[in-house]
Amino acid sequence: MYKCVLCKSELFNNYDEMICDNCKVNIASYLRLELIDRGNYKIYVLFFYEGDIKKLIRCFKFHEGTYLAKVFSIYLSRAIREEGIPCETISYIPMHSKKKAIRGFDQAELLARQSAIIMNVNFSKILIRKKRTKSLYNLDKEARKIELRDAFILVNKTDNLLIIEINR
Ligand SMILES: [Zn+2]
Repeated sequence: MYKCVLCKSELFNNYDEMICDNCKVNIASYLRLELIDRGNYKIYVLFFYEGDIKKLIRCFKFHEGTYLAKVFSIYLSRAIREEGIPCETISYIPMHSKKKAIRGFDQAELLARQSAIIMNVNFSKILIRKKRTKSLYNLDKEARKIELRDAFILVNKTDNLLIIEINR
């Protein structure tokens, strides 16, 4: 028997999405779809980090939650298509290799790979992380710059690139 990952009710169809119709309606209420224009790049925020979305993202950090790449990629690709965001290649902000070795996978990478498959665009690894960084959420622009200095090596360059990051 397949169960909804959120409310545990039985799923009769849509096994792929792993979420029941009621919870899907609920999740849609957390869609944020905010576009922040930073000049030479744009930030697109898909969801508010709260409620069931927070729950799903927490699940996503554990192995049994890796199938959630499929769930999130559906929302991501739909938003990209509907907003007409140009996207030829998808990449991700990698976690540190030591962290990945402990966890066994990088959830942003899984989401980027899965999204590239369903959007039928290229997947490319463009960054390698050299050091671990603090959460940037509460830092101002200058502090972020300092924190991110020498954090990554750029290994690839491409146009109309979509980089996925998961708030963790
Ligand atoms: Zn449900």
